[in-house]
Amino acid sequence: MRTWLSKLYPCQRIESVYGFDFETAKSKGIKALFFDIDNTLVPHDALADERSRGLMAVLRHKGFSLGLVSNNREPRVKSFAESCGGLEYVFLSGKPKPDGYLRLCERLSVKPDQVLFFGDQLFTDIWGANNAGIESILVEPIDKNTDIPRIRIKRWLEKPILCLYKKGFFL
Ligand SMILES: [Mg+2]
Repeated sequence: MRTWLSKLYPCQRIESVYGFDFETAKSKGIKALFFDIDNTLVPHDALADERSRGLMAVLRHKGFSLGLVSNNREPRVKSFAESCGGLEYVFLSGKPKPDGYLRLCERLSVKPDQVLFFGDQLFTDIWGANNAGIESILVEPIDKNTDIPRIRIKRWLEKPILCLYKKGFFL
């Protein structure tokens, strides 16, 4: 039985974007990769580091279109995108609304089913990608200690949902 709750479930749950098998995704027809920034690519509010810049360079080289979907403000998102060699981005995306994801699809000329989205939060990232018809992949937050108070509360609310997800309820 599918319920509204399963809209909050990720299609996949992984440890980290670093180490994900992007080759297999490519062989399955994935053309674009969208990412949340904070606690998905780097700790909350951290600058792009060697690891995130390196990953974006590798993925670009593999031929993926790349984009950032963030609820953060433009200066944060723009500077991160520029540090990573100029990624497409949406700031103040209003996740879990699907609009930002779909705008990025249009700009990169891809369909939602050709995209993977990686994020660390259920109520914004995962719900939003699911609403947009994009495959949602939940990552473990890089450093929960960098979360702002609002996000700490949401992590607490996520716990029972992740517990149901783990047990396979309402899948
Ligand atoms: Mg995040």
